[in-house]
Amino acid sequence: MKLTVQTLTLRLHTPFRIAHGTSTERQNVLVRLGEGLGEGALPPYYGHALREVVAYVQGLDADALLATDPPPLTHLLDDLPPGPAPARAAVDIALHDHWARRLGQPLYRLWGLDPHRMPPSARTLGIPEHPAELQRTLAPLTDPPLLKLKLGTGDPARDLALVRRVRAETTAPLCVDANGAWSLREAAALIPKLAEHEPVFIEQPIPAEEADAWHLLRRLLPRGMPPLIADESARTADDVILLAGAADGVNVKLSKAGGLAEARRMITLARALDMKVLLGCMIESSVGLTAAAHLAPLADFLDLDGTLFLADDPFDGLTFDNGRITLPDRPGHGAIPRRSS
Ligand SMILES: [Mg+2]
Repeated sequence: MKLTVQTLTLRLHTPFRIAHGTSTERQNVLVRLGEGLGEGALPPYYGHALREVVAYVQGLDADALLATDPPPLTHLLDDLPPGPAPARAAVDIALHDHWARRLGQPLYRLWGLDPHRMPPSARTLGIPEHPAELQRTLAPLTDPPLLKLKLGTGDPARDLALVRRVRAETTAPLCVDANGAWSLREAAALIPKLAEHEPVFIEQPIPAEEADAWHLLRRLLPRGMPPLIADESARTADDVILLAGAADGVNVKLSKAGGLAEARRMITLARALDMKVLLGCMIESSVGLTAAAHLAPLADFLDLDGTLFLADDPFDGLTFDNGRITLPDRPGHGAIPRRSS
């Protein structure tokens, strides 16, 4: 079969709680196209239906996509029909992987990037259910380069108290992600208080639906606040334009953008608009994560620790050493099935 799509069930080793809810398992999709592998992540809060994602992939013409060797990548991706972002991401990643494998090179090299020049990845801390959980999570992390604390407990005062608790436990660089949990007024009141704890950045303080609210928030805040990074509000390059002047940066994720091509457009646009780039991920296997990591030399910050939540990753790909990412020395994105699977 030249093109297949299957459900990829990923079990987490511990429940992961964020403002949108708690997960113990995620269902992604895995696409095989020619020699390529691709993954699309479906976090429940984006509302994509698994059957629609699968149907999109099944509706594509594999013979047309693989008619030329190596495939004319940019034209083929531009011509993909509109559809759910995770479906397009899985196909885009698989086609990039196939293209680079046919050329015998890793993706970063075909893009002219140096994999040794990437920032370290943040380590994400879900919202702890109790203080002991926080201590248990932090204890094994010696000298982490960047911690990312999830906020959005439902009470901004509790969120602030949580930041104080983490600060009492560690002096590691810290950023926070509210996943859109605060109203405009709550965010305007809370961000100056959070700023006292010097977070490296504050991610998605307000709900995603309100692009105009970002500009209002900026006007309500004093100068000198930590950088504000848009995540759920910044799905594609069009969103980056709407956020310019209000958000200081954007979180670029393959399954949100619809793949590597759109992610690169977002990064180029953010750079042109003098915005920071955070390269992020969903809960994903090493297929999605390793593909994203090929763009890491273009990012200011990385949050690519999605595989570290998995009880079992069916693929070999990127490796971590206290936040330092190493890409596999293989053509394509380099993620391959584990021998045992
Ligand atoms: Mg986020």
